Amino acid sequence: MKVLIWLACIGGIAYGAYRYAVSPACGARDAVACPPAELEEGFGVVLKASEICPSAGYLCLDLRNQPAFRWPLDKGRLRVRVLLPEFASGEEAEALRQAAIEGIRAWDGHPFPIVIDTAKFTVRMWDIRVVWTQGLFNEAAGLARPGAEVQGKRVKFSMSGLAIVVPPSPVQALIAQGMPQEIAMSLQDKLPPGDSPAATLARVRAVATHEMGHALGLMHSDSENDIMFPVLAKDPSRLRASARDFRSVDALYTLPNGATLQ
Ligand SMILES: [Zn+2]
Repeated sequence: MKVLIWLACIGGIAYGAYRYAVSPACGARDAVACPPAELEEGFGVVLKASEICPSAGYLCLDLRNQPAFRWPLDKGRLRVRVLLPEFASGEEAEALRQAAIEGIRAWDGHPFPIVIDTAKFTVRMWDIRVVWTQGLFNEAAGLARPGAEVQGKRVKFSMSGLAIVVPPSPVQALIAQGMPQEIAMSLQDKLPPGDSPAATLARVRAVATHEMGHALGLMHSDSENDIMFPVLAKDPSRLRASARDFRSVDALYTLPNGATLQ
């Protein structure tokens, strides 16, 4: 009898841990509604581009060549893990993380509620993890390469990491390239000014939004008014997701997952 009670306890704890780690899925509070089966069994389905594209923003620019791949709606919500960048400390690190979180949360509700996980230690499973790197000015500002694996009619979507590149100040860049610190510091007045802290945070926010758009399954836009345009806008007022960005992602999640257009 005692053994049975122990087993029941262990089973209960294991179930609780499982629910804590991966729940809630679709249909739960704070999660999207569970989709009809045909919406998630869309591989091989062919749709008419003329019916879908006029109201789908820039979604169709790439969908003519490849299937629509996205997270399955029965996931319910997306969990994004955002730790502090290791190359910064104190308030600077917190500010960078906060900017990334704001950028990622721009997509909250399109369609998934986005849950941000900042805990140093966690038992929860996350779907997307932010990877911070410090790079030079001419390198890419970020990177996100989602993966999609077809299993029968279903699509298994995944993301290995969402990278955000933060440019160092010109002095830091020289030190990183091997120049002794005293010499680099002595050149400070002669170097072009780096981005101001506010400009750096605006850039991180915009890069996070752009890469999170890829993480949701979006490709690039053909208009510089959209955050998914391949080049970051110079005008700070354009560094945010546009109505067309939202229209595109919303359209992606109403298509059967894995469908192609003709
Ligand atoms: Zn991009």
